[in-house]
Amino acid sequence: MEILTKKVKGAEDILPSDACRWQFLEELMRDEAEKCGFKEIRTPVFEHTVLFNRSVGETTDVVQKEMYTFDTKGGESITLRPEGTAGAARAYLEHALYNDGLPVKVYYHLTCYRYEKAQAGRQREFHQFGMETYGAADAKADAEMICAANGIFDRLGLENIRLEINSIGCKTCRSSYTQALKEYFTARKSELCDTCLSRLDRNPMRILDCKNESCKKVAETAPVVLDYICEDCSTHFDRVKTFLDAADVSYTVNPTIVRGLDYYTRTVFEFVTDAIGAQGTVCGGGRYDGLIEELGGQPTPALGFAMGIERLLLVLKAQGIELPGTPTCDLYIASLGVDAEIKAFSLSQKLRSASIITETDIVGRSLRAQMKYADKISAKYSVVIGDDDLKNNTVRVKDMRNKENSFDAPLDEEAFLEVFTDKADLDGFSADLENIKKLLESLSEGSSDE
Ligand code: ATP
Ligand code: MG
Repeated sequence: MEILTKKVKGAEDILPSDACRWQFLEELMRDEAEKCGFKEIRTPVFEHTVLFNRSVGETTDVVQKEMYTFDTKGGESITLRPEGTAGAARAYLEHALYNDGLPVKVYYHLTCYRYEKAQAGRQREFHQFGMETYGAADAKADAEMICAANGIFDRLGLENIRLEINSIGCKTCRSSYTQALKEYFTARKSELCDTCLSRLDRNPMRILDCKNESCKKVAETAPVVLDYICEDCSTHFDRVKTFLDAADVSYTVNPTIVRGLDYYTRTVFEFVTDAIGAQGTVCGGGRYDGLIEELGGQPTPALGFAMGIERLLLVLKAQGIELPGTPTCDLYIASLGVDAEIKAFSLSQKLRSASIITETDIVGRSLRAQMKYADKISAKYSVVIGDDDLKNNTVRVKDMRNKENSFDAPLDEEAFLEVFTDKADLDGFSADLENIKKLLESLSEGSSDE
C-alpha cells in the first residue's frame, strides 16, 4: 500500500497506545500547578511575528534561525509559537488580567514549533508544560516556581535529574558584564561563527549559548555573570537559595547557565539529566522582570518555566518508570439475533453511563467474529446475549482472564449494572479522571513514604 503522504519531518504522531501516558503526565502537571494556585491559560498557536522578535529577542537562535514565519493572504507576518511565555504575557496584558489582583499565576500545556535539526529529544513540533507568575518580585516567588517544577519530577519518582540555578543579574549590572564579554570575545573573534560575530556588538551574552562547537569552546573560559551581579541581585539570589533550602530542594549553582532567550533577568534555572544524550535540559526557566514592560505594560516583575514533555518521557523511560498504559475494554457485549442486538446496545449505554468501558458490535459481525474481536482488544469480561438469555432474563458474564471467575447476571439494565459492579474485578487503570486521580494519589503516597 502506498499512502499519499507521510508526516512532516520533525513532527511526531502520538498514537492511541501512547496517548494515555501523555494524559497521565498532563493530569499530574495540572494537579501540581493547581495545588499552588495556578490557573490554566490557552493561547493561539500563532501570534504576530513582532511578539516573538521583541520578547524572545532578535539575536537569539530561536528568532534568527528557528521560527516558522509566514505572510498571510492579508499580508500579515504570523509566526507559529516557538514557546509559551510570549503568548501568555500578551494575553495577560490584552485582557488586563492584572485587574484580578496580583500576583496572577497561570499554567499551560501547548505545542511549540521550531525549525531545528530533528533528533532524539529535539523535534520541530514539540510539547511544553509551563507555569508563569506575574507581579511578584520577591525571591519567594522564584522558589515557589522552582519547587513547583521540582514537585512534578519528585512525584514521578525521577532520580536521574538535577536542578542547576544561577543569577544573570538585572539590566544595570548586566552592562558591566556585557562589556567584559565583549572584550573577551573580541580578542577571540577568529574562533566565532558568523552568527556570533554579528552578536558581538548587539548581544554578546547570546554567544554563550551558541551550539557551534568552536563557539562553545571559546565560551567555556569566558567571564561568568555571577561575578558581575550587583548587591541587590546578589541578595535576591541568596534569598532564593534560603527558600529552596527551607523547602528541602537540592540544587547546585552553575554559573555558566544563561538561558537561550533574551527576556531573562536575575534567577535562571534548569533541570538537567545525563540519561538521554545531548538533549539533556528537560526544564528551563527563570525571572523575566523586563518582559511585560517591553510588551507595552506597566513595569511588572514576572517569572516562569517550561518543560519539554518529549524529553521528560525519554528520562522516564531511561529510568524504567512505567506510566499507566492504555485502558482496555471492561466488558464486551456480543449478541446473536435482532432482539439481542438491541438489548446489547441498550445495556452498553447503561454501563457506559457508569464509566465502565463497554463495547458492542457496530459492524455487523458474526458471533464468532465478535468474540474474536473481544479477544483482540483484550476485553476483561464478555457476555453473549442470545434468544434464550432474553427469555430467561439472565446472562453469563465470562471473565476472559480466568473462566472460573465467571458469574451470572440479570439482563435488566439496572440490575445487570449492580451485579457487574459488585462482582467484576476491574482493577488497574481506566481512562476516566477519577482513576487517574487515584493513581496520582498512590504515586504521591509512594514518594512520601521514602
Ligand atoms: P535547548 O538548549 O535544548 O535547545 P532551549 O533552551 O532552546 O533548549 P527552552 O526554550 O528553554 O529550550 O524550552 C524549554 C524546554 O522545552 C527545554 O528544556 C526542552 O525540554 C524543551 N524543548 C526546547 N526545544 C525543543 C525541541 N526542539 N524539541 C523538543 N523539546 C524541546
Ligand atoms: Mg533550543
